[in-house]
Amino acid sequence: MSLARATELGSRLRGNDTSRATGINMSTTTAGIAVPLKDDASFPLAIAYIGIGANLGDARANVVDALARLQRQPGCTLMAASSMYRTAPIDSSGDDYINAVARIATTLDAETLLQALHAIEQAHGRERPYRNAPRTLDLDLLLYADQTISSPTLTVPHPRMHERAFVLMPLLELAPGIVIPGHGPAQECAASPAVQAQAIARLVTSQQT
Ligand code: ADP
Ligand code: MG
Repeated sequence: MSLARATELGSRLRGNDTSRATGINMSTTTAGIAVPLKDDASFPLAIAYIGIGANLGDARANVVDALARLQRQPGCTLMAASSMYRTAPIDSSGDDYINAVARIATTLDAETLLQALHAIEQAHGRERPYRNAPRTLDLDLLLYADQTISSPTLTVPHPRMHERAFVLMPLLELAPGIVIPGHGPAQECAASPAVQAQAIARLVTSQQT
């Protein structure tokens, strides 16, 4: 599925999505939201946001494929995909990154969802030779409902999302009113001088397909 197709899908599904008005707190009212699920899913259903990044190989194709894999993932339905963004590596080396954010509805618990994200990374041959190494595909669990999670393997909200333009800009495209638990409105995080100083360019639609 192309990113344009995924975005169109997301736009259609967003007809029933109140996240623009309610931010991440919509998870507490998901029982009242008619989310079209491809699975024979049972509640509880959570809204989660996934940060996608790549700067090795065909980075754009990797991001598009990640969206398709999220849609195919049992227990997950892709609801919306942001535009793609080009960003310079932060605390890292290599080519520019291609970044995007996806909103999914999921019946997976957060730890199981993280394992699914790792499996998708592995399908793209993700290696971790050293910290912040260039990567074919990086999938981060940014937000899971309005939960705060701190386990040996998982921290939610993602611990650095509030200071990264490559997360905040695509996230705000999908959910302008969203609140990051522990950090406040994402819009306020994005307005900070440190975030504003980060180079980021949204890729126009014709370049995404
Ligand atoms: P990066 O922080 O650059 O994305 P990795 O993708 O290599 O680095 O992730 C390192 C570890 O971070 C993973 O093994 C994972 O268990 C852990 N982790 C903790 N919280 C999260 C999260 N919210 N999303 C993704 N990975 C997480
Ligand atoms: Mg990661």
